[in-house]
Amino acid sequence: MSGEAPVRRIVIAGGGTAGWMAAAAIARTMGRTVDLTLVESDAIGTVGVGESTIPPLVTYNRLLGINEADFMRATQATFKLGIMFDGWKQAGESYFHSFGLTGKDHWSAGFQHFWLHGREKGHTQPYDDYCLELLAAAEGRFAHLPDEGMNYAYQLDSTLYGQFLRRMAEADGTRRVEGRIARVDLDGESGDIAALVLESGTRIEGDLFLDCTGFRALLIEQALHAGFDDWTHYLPCDTAIAVQTGNVGPPPPFTRAMAHDAGWQWRIPLQHRTGNGIVYCSRYLDHDAALERLLGNLTGPVLTQPNRLRFVTGARRRQWHRNCIAIGLSGGFMEPLESTSIHLIQRAILRLIRMMPAGPVSLRDIAEFNDQQHQDMLQIRDFLILHYKVTERRDSLFWRQCAAMDIPDTLAQKIELFRETGRVFRRNEELFAENSWVQVMMGQGIMPQSWHPIASKLRDDELATLLQSLRDSARRTVAGLPAHGAYVARYCGAS
Ligand code: FAD
Repeated sequence: MSGEAPVRRIVIAGGGTAGWMAAAAIARTMGRTVDLTLVESDAIGTVGVGESTIPPLVTYNRLLGINEADFMRATQATFKLGIMFDGWKQAGESYFHSFGLTGKDHWSAGFQHFWLHGREKGHTQPYDDYCLELLAAAEGRFAHLPDEGMNYAYQLDSTLYGQFLRRMAEADGTRRVEGRIARVDLDGESGDIAALVLESGTRIEGDLFLDCTGFRALLIEQALHAGFDDWTHYLPCDTAIAVQTGNVGPPPPFTRAMAHDAGWQWRIPLQHRTGNGIVYCSRYLDHDAALERLLGNLTGPVLTQPNRLRFVTGARRRQWHRNCIAIGLSGGFMEPLESTSIHLIQRAILRLIRMMPAGPVSLRDIAEFNDQQHQDMLQIRDFLILHYKVTERRDSLFWRQCAAMDIPDTLAQKIELFRETGRVFRRNEELFAENSWVQVMMGQGIMPQSWHPIASKLRDDELATLLQSLRDSARRTVAGLPAHGAYVARYCGAS
């Protein structure tokens, strides 16, 4: 951004989840220090999918002072304790990636080292038995617990979330303009965006523009040509078909990701309905076959027309370019496997608020923002690739290609270090902590060949007592929890 003017007028283009998450957060935190306008077009609409989230959204809502029960009522949300992965290692086998800690870490070594040592000593109980969130999910139970409690996220209707945030943002002073953006005017001298021009002829000028126009990337790409890094080689799925069904029974507190021979299928239970979708690589499965497969693997009555979405996995090369920041799908998409898209929106918004300049924006701010955002995306990308690369499936061309693909060195190092030593390290505030990596790596079939020597220092009776007490404690807590569906109904029913 080369302009000399301080940022006073922020214009948000697009009113999907990204646009309204940005408006609500900026209006609430920056108050009247900025003039905030959001432009959206009802005629164009939003992408209309996005239901599964991860725990940092709980913090985001708290930062905005949102009452959790109000939010859950408004978005028909349920609690989410993790994701059940069916058929990723092998057809017919499942594992769970929970949001909780497993067992108890020592500062020098994660719990997996003690569990691995225990296994050698004949303790055959699965790693899962030591995780409270995982056991609660398996039994369909949930409650807010005191102290550190359970780590959770939400399954929600992101369109309703957008509408909920819109009410907040407008109450906090955001001006909403309805209309289709027909043109993006650039400043002849600087090349920055000067104004958005609507079909009606209305001209909206600003100092900083947030591109929340979804896959269209109207500002950041169509006007400013920020560039796109294509990650199809690593994340080959390129199409999804979404459909909503009625609930059958109470909603479980977890999302399901069911692998098939050319991708996977999601099932996300909300209070009033279930979101479903098939994700696939169109080189290996055509639309009709994908639709048939999806419709043949639903549990409740179909409520909506199937909605097909095409995408290219990858990221905008510069997320902040000149006086424009891409937030949401305009900044890239890495497929919904670990529910990271809404999280990336949240990260970008909080990062921007942290970097909000007092005067004109400096090029150093832009470079720092881009670097941090890029790091986040690369780390998430590695974690997603892991699910495809480390598989024992060889039953289709798709899985054979995934198993054979080259992967980034950063991921190869992580996989091989874990395989040899059982160690995994969280670097540079990366989103997914050690336990996430351990659960997915073991779930996908990597069993470490050794473990930290500190685990072997425990006497056999000490090890047995430790493992038994951790298992008992998790089981006792879960036995005292209410059923998730009943808990949600009670929580949302309370005023
Ligand atoms: P959109 O919802 O597309 O909004 C774009 C906005 O820009 C709209 O308001 C539109 O009207 C406006 N607009 C566009 N062009 C113009 C114009 N010319 N003039 C005026 N306005 C315009 N994320 C998760 O976190 N969890 C999930 O489980 C998940 N599942 C997904 C599954 C699929 C198949 C896909 C594709 C995405 C999924 N996502 C998920 C991502 C999630 O849907 C998005 O991150 C989120 O909805 C934000 O979208 P958005 O606001 O960037 O774009």
